[in-house]
Amino acid sequence: MWIPIVDLRLCKGCGECAQVCPDNAIEIVDKKSIIDYNECTCCGVCDRVCPIGALEIKNPTMPPILEKGVQLETLKDEVKRLKQKLREMRKTMPL
Ligand code: SF4
Ligand code: SF4
Repeated sequence: MWIPIVDLRLCKGCGECAQVCPDNAIEIVDKKSIIDYNECTCCGVCDRVCPIGALEIKNPTMPPILEKGVQLETLKDEVKRLKQKLREMRKTMPL
């Protein structure tokens, strides 16, 4: 499921997202955007207005490596490399 997620380290509390939310699901608390997921309908509008990319629609169940749009071939190469490393580690492990 895709939901809006705020990176609280980046959020400056400007309130742009809260202003456009049609469901009044965002409150600014201590200069941070706090989303009430009971009210949010995941429309995605807030994601469009954050001027610094602190709020993005994400799928929290998806591994970060896929979320960032990594090419499938790159991913396959990485899996191959890790499998090879695992094989090498097993060879050196005492029985
Ligand atoms: S996704 Fe839509 S409903 Fe949810 S917090 Fe953002 S603007 Fe509001
Ligand atoms: S628009 Fe971005 S920086 Fe401004 S309050 Fe919302 S999440 Fe924070």
